[in-house]
Amino acid sequence: MSFSSNDVLGHQVGPDAPEVRDMCIRTDRVLGQLLGAIEAEAGAGNYVVVLTSDHGVAPIPEELTKRGVPAGRFSASEVRRTIETALSEKYGAAQWVLANADLSPYLDHELLRAKHIALTDAVETAAEAVRKLPYIFRVYTSTQLEHENLAGDPIGTLMQRGFYPERAGDLFIVQKPYWIASKDGTTHGTPFSYDTHVPVIFYGRGIRAGRYDENIRVADIAPTLAALLGVNEPSGSVGRVLPVIEK
Ligand SMILES: [Zn+2]
Repeated sequence: MSFSSNDVLGHQVGPDAPEVRDMCIRTDRVLGQLLGAIEAEAGAGNYVVVLTSDHGVAPIPEELTKRGVPAGRFSASEVRRTIETALSEKYGAAQWVLANADLSPYLDHELLRAKHIALTDAVETAAEAVRKLPYIFRVYTSTQLEHENLAGDPIGTLMQRGFYPERAGDLFIVQKPYWIASKDGTTHGTPFSYDTHVPVIFYGRGIRAGRYDENIRVADIAPTLAALLGVNEPSGSVGRVLPVIEK
């Protein structure tokens, strides 16, 4: 089950607003009702629940700059214009970018082929131009994510996990921490800790009480539940069984 009201509200007012605190209190009450209903159906302590989140969120940039933390806003269309300008200067005026999925632009491969321009050359030219923008942290190319070993680069590793070659764009642009590509409110989607650090709570039958601070992954939930149920973990599982099961 997904409780998505926190997300909708959080985008508008940011995580530090009193409205979000109020929403958390209300969500907690709804969860209490849900657990009460499960308990009535299954019997006290005769069930397991896992609570987590699909992402975190960045604070509102203006709140951060007030506290002296570097942060700001930029526009994805400026990033796109930067690429168009760099490619037009090098190869001649044309519309080189077909679409921009968030910060992952798709270059016009047919146009590049027609003009006998190597895709890797165009992608490198675009990447170099974007890297010069003051709010950009890293730019990865599809070739890099597909073929390079990025094990020594934690940000690159996260980008690689989200990379799907058949549908992916040509560039993968990461802005500096606390920079967001919108005129108001806030959002999520970066590989930084404020976006990727989420709670994971196991509760119920067979769960060992405790508090754990080590780094785990949301992907660890499925194999842990499988172990608890005494069944094989899902075939595509990449997680590990967490030490939360009573012996
Ligand atoms: Zn959201």
